[in-house]
Amino acid sequence: MTIKKFAGADRDQDFCQWLEENPDGFYLNERAKHSVMLHRVGCWHLGDGSEVNTTKNFKVASQEVEPLQQWANLHDFQLENCCTCNPS
Ligand SMILES: [Zn+2]
Repeated sequence: MTIKKFAGADRDQDFCQWLEENPDGFYLNERAKHSVMLHRVGCWHLGDGSEVNTTKNFKVASQEVEPLQQWANLHDFQLENCCTCNPS
């Protein structure tokens, strides 16, 4: 199972590419310290591109929900489901 983390400067492009290649995937978006939001790829939250900022908020992406939940547990992040795209 592959998990990809996108964080820091110059990763926006990589993240956008991953989204294009994984239209049925899921990703975590950092919300605050120790808090992440789970989204489906294609969620309108990312629609206009303003959320694609891996410097401000890191992303963790995977084709499936479970490894992302495990990632959040392992790294002590509170995980919330986006109520717009309802990922799980
Ligand atoms: Zn969402």
